[in-house]
Amino acid sequence: MNTSTLTRTKPAVRRKSANPEYDTVIIGAGFAGLGTAIKLLEAGVKNFVILERGQQPGGTWRDNQYPGAACDIPSNLYSFSFAPNPEWSRSFSGSAEIFEYVKHLVKHFKLEPHIQYGQNVNSAELDDETGLWHIHTEDGKIHKGRAVVMASGPLANPKMPAIKGLADYQGKIVHSARWDHDYDLAGKRVAVIGTGASAIQIIPEIVDKVGKLTVFQRTPAWVMPRPDFTTSGFSKSLFRNLPFTQKAIREALYWTHESMALAVIWDSPLRKVAERLGSAFLNAQVKDKWMRRQLTPDYKIGCKRILVSNTYYPALQRKNCELITWPIANVSHQGIRTADGVEHQVDCIVLATGFDVPKSGTPYPIKGIGGRLLAEEWARGAQAYKSINVSGYPNLFITFGPNSGPGHNSALVYMEQQIAYIVKGVRQILDKNLKMLDVKPEVQARYNQSIQKRLSRTNWNSGCKSWYLTEDGFNATMYPGFATQYAAQMKRFDTRAYAQVQQNRPA
Ligand SMILES: Cc1cc2nc3c(=O)[nH]c(=O)nc-3n(C[C@H](O)[C@H](O)[C@H](O)COP(=O)(O)OP(=O)(O)OC[C@H]3O[C@@H](n4cnc5c(N)ncnc54)[C@H](O)[C@@H]3O)c2cc1C
Repeated sequence: MNTSTLTRTKPAVRRKSANPEYDTVIIGAGFAGLGTAIKLLEAGVKNFVILERGQQPGGTWRDNQYPGAACDIPSNLYSFSFAPNPEWSRSFSGSAEIFEYVKHLVKHFKLEPHIQYGQNVNSAELDDETGLWHIHTEDGKIHKGRAVVMASGPLANPKMPAIKGLADYQGKIVHSARWDHDYDLAGKRVAVIGTGASAIQIIPEIVDKVGKLTVFQRTPAWVMPRPDFTTSGFSKSLFRNLPFTQKAIREALYWTHESMALAVIWDSPLRKVAERLGSAFLNAQVKDKWMRRQLTPDYKIGCKRILVSNTYYPALQRKNCELITWPIANVSHQGIRTADGVEHQVDCIVLATGFDVPKSGTPYPIKGIGGRLLAEEWARGAQAYKSINVSGYPNLFITFGPNSGPGHNSALVYMEQQIAYIVKGVRQILDKNLKMLDVKPEVQARYNQSIQKRLSRTNWNSGCKSWYLTEDGFNATMYPGFATQYAAQMKRFDTRAYAQVQQNRPA
């Protein structure tokens, strides 16, 4: 990692009290929580805490250690721009390597004294009198904060599918995001439910170990080739000694991904080119006509997440692998029964069924001004201003809030913009000694009208069912534009968009 430009900081000063008070409470020690902490320190905010429910930092990359887990955006772009890592071993690094990178960030930026592990936040409540947020954790503690940053992750809570009989299944159940490394798959009859981003990484890794692999597919995905190469010693030394070369590669990757927006987000001629590419890849890799048909998506590319893998289609064609496209009817004691009446007996079910994405409701109760409940206001779909603030919930900032999801570029590019914006907000609160900094409802409403209008013209809203949408089709997750547009909107912290209430106690 390039250390030449890094800021040295002092450890946090904690106030000794049963319910400590901080300038900022950050919930979550994944990339977003840690990145916010780094930038708060740079902005001179030292009195903050990071509450993390796990025993280590790392979020996604601590939890997703399943076989084959890796990023699907190249590491030179899927890392913080302010902390380049010249040592990435390959273009798409594996989960363990990304986890190491995150731990290195903690060490390098001296974040450890700020993190409290084993702190599962179970509610956040605004005290109208003082303007302080009370963050309650499972162990009964209350952490008070003048500002709170909800960095608890867009994909942090594994989704258990609602399949009849699953609870009574007598074999082993493993969720991709909570892999059991002690369970030996060798020679076992294994079922994988789901064919999304995690499944297509797991299947090629385990197919040659297991006795029989049965893959249950609901909807086929668009799969593209994965340009994955090991990084040569020469490149690493170049990146180490001439950091601008790595920066140039990052720039090139950024703009390549930006151009992909034209195929992923909108129905442009490039979308058709991308579909032709996807079909050609399928035709080249799968010779059997019937299987090809089973694997051909019937929706526009981009409508659901595009997957990248060179090994997924070949794995499905192994002798010991079977692709099942009949809907699952129920899980029996011994296996999975499909709608055609067949029971597929298995020793282990791998649930590659994704995450509970907060499109409506909230992961824990959040009470704002006058006790208003965010989950109730978001019941039909989450909304915020610039994906960060919600009217009625002053001094609360959200990373990967509503409509901040990228479909074509690195999440960390978006995240860095969110963090910069949040730090500006926190500085406003502290510098002006504000009790409340609350986005005006009419500003938030105008912003969302425009976002939803733009979304109506995207591939995501073109009719397929995906985790981007609520049950009734409201898109509360994706940002309908280029990452460059998102960055432009986040550049300025427009104080006129916010109602400001002065603190009545001294700073
Ligand atoms: C398998 C996988 C692969 C991915 N690959 C890519 C990729 O290649 N490119 C890309 O752009 N994006 C990718 N993503 C998206 C990824 O989620 C983001 O890129 C990023 O890691 C999100 O970081 P985060 O800090 O917001 O959330 P997380 O990494 O999820 O961190 C959230 C943290 O908050 C903690 N937390 C949650 N709830 C509570 C609570 N109640 N109390 C206390 N702590 C709590 C969690 O334990 C966790 O540590 C991938 C996601 C997954 C699951």
